[in-house]
Amino acid sequence: MKAIKARNLSFSYNGADVLKGINLEVEEGEFLAILGPNGAGKSTLLKCISGILNCRGVEVFGKPIGEYSRNELARIIAYVPQRTEPGFMTVFDTVLLGRRPYMGLRPSKKDLEAVKRALERMGIAGFALKTTNKLSGGELQKVGIARALAQEPKVLMMDEPTNNLDIRSQLEVMRLARDFSAEGGTVIMVMHDVNLALRFARRFVFMKNGRIVADGGREILKPSL
Ligand code: ADP
Ligand code: ADP
Repeated sequence: MKAIKARNLSFSYNGADVLKGINLEVEEGEFLAILGPNGAGKSTLLKCISGILNCRGVEVFGKPIGEYSRNELARIIAYVPQRTEPGFMTVFDTVLLGRRPYMGLRPSKKDLEAVKRALERMGIAGFALKTTNKLSGGELQKVGIARALAQEPKVLMMDEPTNNLDIRSQLEVMRLARDFSAEGGTVIMVMHDVNLALRFARRFVFMKNGRIVADGGREILKPSL
């Protein structure tokens, strides 16, 4: 089953073409790393196939992305932004936001358990009651990932999730993504670190100037990077 299909996808910000005819098909269970220089359009592509930006030509599990309701789509795709904004909410309540597509007025036992599981998986249960403006950049990043996990999605879209993390946490996040895909989930991750990508991802897409210039196994990555 194709989790994501983009056909001749283009996108521009105020007339500047940022994505130029992207064709991409991602099978359920794949772990795909998107690499390429700054400004290549990686984040924009991730936002288009996550439904954050409105783009034509994207299908999610065989259906045009625009035909899903917000909640339906949120149960399928969780997007982890490059930066999770700090605020006055607690870590627990921030992760609970991930349950919004499932929740009624109050969280059910199932919602609370999903939050607890996500906090434990990211190793941040110890400061669940801290407000997020008291956290380090790395801790905040883990909160963003925990919120996505609480969403129990089929597809995890992550924009440079290891950016603010020390090497140990980087490996934890990559293992988590690998386990998620090993269990049948789909991971699409924008990355900078080629070595980390080579170690964990199974498929690689290289972008440049709004186009996919290479797509395949590790052989497409030049060692020069
Ligand atoms: P990458 O993730 O590969 O660094 P981006 O998708 O972030 O690339 O950006 C691609 C291009 O689109 C860049 O030239 C960037 O400046 C531009 N861009 C990104 N976001 C916006 C925005 N919100 N408004 C206008 N231009 C943007
Ligand atoms: P140009 O000649 O336009 O600068 P290059 O093909 O030399 O383009 O690539 C520019 C940068 O992009 C280099 O750092 C190169 O290593 C990297 N690059 C291009 N294609 C790939 C690829 N398939 N995998 C990894 N890196 C790539």
